[in-house]
Amino acid sequence: MFKNFIGGDWLEGQRVSRNINPSDTRDLVGEYAQADVAQAQHAIAAAQAAFAGWSLSTPQQRFDILDAVGTEILARRQELGDLLAREEGKTLPEAMGEVTRAGHIFKFFAGEALRPTGELVPSVRAGVGVEISREPLGVIGIITPWNFPMAIPAWKIAPALAYGNCVVFKPADLVPGSAWALAEILSRAGLPAGVFNLVMGRGSEVGATLLDDTRVTAISFTGSVATGHRVAASCVARMAKFQLEMGGKNPMIVLDDADLDVAVNCAINSGFFSTGQRCTASSRLIVTDGIHDRFVAAMAQRMQTLTIDDARKVGTDIGPVVDQSQLRQNLEYVAMAREEGGRVVCGGEAMAFSKDGQPGFYMRPALIADTDAAMRINREEVFGPVVSVLRATNYEQALALANDTPFGLAAGIATQSLKHATHFKRHAQAGMVMVNLPTAGVDYHVPFGGRKGSSYGPREQGRYAAEFFTSVKTAYTQA
Ligand code: NAD
Repeated sequence: MFKNFIGGDWLEGQRVSRNINPSDTRDLVGEYAQADVAQAQHAIAAAQAAFAGWSLSTPQQRFDILDAVGTEILARRQELGDLLAREEGKTLPEAMGEVTRAGHIFKFFAGEALRPTGELVPSVRAGVGVEISREPLGVIGIITPWNFPMAIPAWKIAPALAYGNCVVFKPADLVPGSAWALAEILSRAGLPAGVFNLVMGRGSEVGATLLDDTRVTAISFTGSVATGHRVAASCVARMAKFQLEMGGKNPMIVLDDADLDVAVNCAINSGFFSTGQRCTASSRLIVTDGIHDRFVAAMAQRMQTLTIDDARKVGTDIGPVVDQSQLRQNLEYVAMAREEGGRVVCGGEAMAFSKDGQPGFYMRPALIADTDAAMRINREEVFGPVVSVLRATNYEQALALANDTPFGLAAGIATQSLKHATHFKRHAQAGMVMVNLPTAGVDYHVPFGGRKGSSYGPREQGRYAAEFFTSVKTAYTQA
């Protein structure tokens, strides 16, 4: 059994959860400890006790530890990628890409530990100096979703530690394997006991304990809108700092002047790769009249060529859906879109088996045309390989449709018009905008995050991460 890591010790939980391979449900990835409320509190106490020492650790110490973690992750990318693909269902190349990204993130924040920023400014008063510096916050509760089980924990844990905070990490219930492997690497990297703690367990128990405990200074959360709102309510009630990254309903506009191949490549990649289970997935394709029919036909043709199979098999383009309930939800949205008047151009059916007869949660990606902005398929996040098409008469209408959503994470456009691309970058109501690129797939050294209902609080990643993981102090000195 894989145990929790609390106060420098590996501890059994009160229960055990079984981690199942969605590509072959007969395959048990492992049994993982499940903490209860008392164990979560134990981890918080350990982190709090470690903070005084760790907050005064040297930049060199923090650099060495984070750099070593990054080096080991990169050296083991094949093995860790295999584990990730096995438990989550994204393809092996996608999983190795995610692991690589996690390694790079640790190395980036190792460097950031050596680059503390501050300012020394003259006061408006004679003889007075003003210093502006950043200090660590304390204990950070980190709560993550299942769809990026290595990269999302990395982009929260690495900056938290780099800026001198202690961490209690609660991963998603469905994917404890990658979280445990990351924790095991951190456990050997030279961190003092209690600085980093892994507490696997239920959101309603372990997660809720982190939200409500006043010893947890800040919460960094990525997950669904519903849970995000719960996190916000709990944090506001006790005035804890928090940041939320939640759902998306990301548009991609295809204009008449787009390169058809570029547009199709972008839509296939960001709509269906990683089984559509990306918060930055393009789930609404908004296509102008002049290219609409050619684009839909080319999409349907390309979709016939996609191989849906075991995530770890060479040649697989799309792995399984993560679990039974997500698969059911995807199929329900396809049925609902049909009832609302959408035309299922292709896909949308479950497949009970892989090509080799393994039982799994497979589904053919779905393309649904003739939809309108009011349909639920265009308003709610599905979080699967289900993409709808909306028709627009011109760029202006396409932009209005793109922005007609409660979400605002990513937005894309395929066009050869500099004028429209430039206008779109300024007027798309999203935190991340892509021109002739998939909406999913971003760099690790620049800010990540959205607007409107998708995000709340400071951006994650890159140097902007300091906004969340530190507190600014202004000190005045009379010489
Ligand atoms: P989820 O909200 O169900 O769970 C996220 C985490 O919250 C899990 O660790 C879960 O155990 C925990 N949790 C659940 N109930 C809780 C509670 N009452 N108190 C505290 N914690 C609790 O989300 P999910 O299904 O794991 O992930 C899918 C969602 O994540 C999608 O909506 C997707 O768009 C979103 N997501 C967003 C981003 C982004 O950066 N915007 C990135 C990836 C995923």
